[in-house]
Amino acid sequence: MILLSPHTDTVFNNPQIGFKNGQHVGLLDNFIGVLTTYLSLYQHESMAQLERDGHIGIYHNRGEEYGYLTDAPKLDPEKDMVIVVDICADKEGYADFDVSIENIHNYPDLDEIIAELRREGFRIRVKPYTGETHDHDESFSWIALGIPVVTFTIPIHAVENNWHRVQCDNTVSYEVVARASTCLTRFILHSL
Ligand SMILES: [Zn+2]
Repeated sequence: MILLSPHTDTVFNNPQIGFKNGQHVGLLDNFIGVLTTYLSLYQHESMAQLERDGHIGIYHNRGEEYGYLTDAPKLDPEKDMVIVVDICADKEGYADFDVSIENIHNYPDLDEIIAELRREGFRIRVKPYTGETHDHDESFSWIALGIPVVTFTIPIHAVENNWHRVQCDNTVSYEVVARASTCLTRFILHSL
């Protein structure tokens, strides 16, 4: 089973979210991760069926911003894996990519999956798990539990690369989110 995990806790209460002229604006962490996950699930009836048949699970962590898991489902490291779905501002290296697969840890057949996605035309950045503090995200919690995991990162724009700005002025275009959700669907189907 693949557990899709877009966290729903935010750094502010009731953060601003909007959509204008083809782009989302606001505190996009992690509204865009949630949106991308459900766009993927709603893309084909077969995706919804995979969820009903127990091959796909959905989990919304409410402790990501503080580094813990809330009411996490019990997973089997032999059978299950997690795709953390989250955003990141366009740090150096994100500009030329549709999505970034990061904090990779024991995810089965990942090299083949990435190669297949690239053949399909997706521009994938790959960044293995290093354990370094500045890469810390929810995947670290799953790694501590011995569960295979990747973080599927959607690149957004943020002033000073700060995706937690109190001004709530992050942006991301319709095209980026639509592309990321298609890529996530393909990633899931190649993983099953
Ligand atoms: Zn986040």
